[in-house]
Amino acid sequence: MSKFDYDLFVIGAGSGGVRAARMAALSGAKVAVAEEHRVGGTCVIRGCVPKKFMVYASEFAHHFKTAKAYGWSLDNPRFDWAAFIAQKDMEIARLSGIYVANLRNAGAELMHGKARLIDGHAVEVEGRGVVSAERILIATGGRPAAPDDVAGVDLSITSNEAFHLPALPKRIVIVGGGYIAVEFAGIFNGFGVDTTLVHRGENLLRGFDDHVRTHVAEEMEKCGVKIQLGRKHARLEQSGDGIISTFIDGGTLSSDVVMFAVGRRPYVEGLGLEAAGVALNPGGAIKVDDYSRTSTPNIWAVGDVTDRINLTPVAIREGAAFAETEFYGRPTRFDHEMVASAVFSQPPVGAVGMTEAEARSALGKVDIYFTRFRPMKYAFSGEAERCMMKLVVENSSQLIVGCHVVGPDAPEMIQMAAIALKMGVTKAQWDSTCAVHPTLAEELVTMREPYAPADGVG
Ligand code: NDP
Repeated sequence: MSKFDYDLFVIGAGSGGVRAARMAALSGAKVAVAEEHRVGGTCVIRGCVPKKFMVYASEFAHHFKTAKAYGWSLDNPRFDWAAFIAQKDMEIARLSGIYVANLRNAGAELMHGKARLIDGHAVEVEGRGVVSAERILIATGGRPAAPDDVAGVDLSITSNEAFHLPALPKRIVIVGGGYIAVEFAGIFNGFGVDTTLVHRGENLLRGFDDHVRTHVAEEMEKCGVKIQLGRKHARLEQSGDGIISTFIDGGTLSSDVVMFAVGRRPYVEGLGLEAAGVALNPGGAIKVDDYSRTSTPNIWAVGDVTDRINLTPVAIREGAAFAETEFYGRPTRFDHEMVASAVFSQPPVGAVGMTEAEARSALGKVDIYFTRFRPMKYAFSGEAERCMMKLVVENSSQLIVGCHVVGPDAPEMIQMAAIALKMGVTKAQWDSTCAVHPTLAEELVTMREPYAPADGVG
């Protein structure tokens, strides 16, 4: 008989926590999961999934334009925000229900309420009292960050509220240059909202390849998003029904909604980490080793609360690796190398491996293969959209160390490219793969001539 109430107590029923809890429970362990909000976490409830539905919905504006050139007549298509939100909420409720059912079917107990560590083995759950556990897993995710240097920031929203706006605004200002800002700018622009993206930096999507960053900004502008770079908010003020943004440079901008998408912070507030001796790193995330173990030996943490790579599939794999190690006797570390990612901007981005700058700095001499072209689909409509592809190849080994795509279906393409890069593909092996014609992706395997831009940006 164990001296603890549970073999494993998981705090947070998002992607990482649920995967670990299910696997542990299926091994025969006694598992409980506490969740203070809805089961499913950021990804299912207020992140990836509803965002993707919004991307799909907003893309129709573009599709209608293309369809017309192919001979379709479209009788003044109109978008009904309320109908969309109702459908989206229904689907999110269904998915959350599946998460609940999966936990129960695996034999895990679900508790609704905020959990707080009392010490290394005891957890107090709001409304449930104190329970004890041999192992504890923290998977509480992250929350949108708010800037602390903008007066009137309470007048703004974050992505959390963007999923539940009572009506579509006429004008929106989105602040930030990362994933969320760029994705929501495409979404609102597609819905016909006058959209301005304001970013403090000189280019969007820091961390991505420079060609990708420039290309995305150009393409977004072609689609109608107004991009203001090198600009930072000083304050927000209510003015009638609207909001006035005043910038540090003295300029102003009126809109109906201002949305800040300036990063996310690990959600550690009220968790009682100090009482359990769980240390944070300087950025405020829970410090973990390669096995996701915290500074307290029987407590682990996975997902965004550890701020390693903040992507759902990574949290899932970290959770699975923890369960493999602790409940199946198979020590497993998730390999954070060569993790592909996608930005669901319009057009979208798919990227895996090193940027050109990273490769030049880490590996020295690299060969770059680059192409930009008009997707065949737009031949009739004459739309100005361009697709961009880039391979970064280490010169001496000829290993492909980076692959970057911007254009329709880039996120789908990059999943396949990631397999090859993870396996250590060389440029010659890549090129020996016969093209699939006519596709956009075939261009990836037909780039023969190294590209040598004079100024580093083509
Ligand atoms: P990011 O970290 O991607 O970007 C934050 C942006 O806000 C940066 O452009 C940053 O500028 C800017 N910024 C930071 N602080 C301030 C400030 N005080 N004032 C003005 N601008 C500021 O965060 P996101 O919120 O976009 O997304 C959070 C994370 O969620 C992502 O990193 C990603 O891991 C995950 N995510 C993944 C998605 C996907 O996989 N498709 C989709 C959405 C989110 P600077 O560059 O100058 O620092």
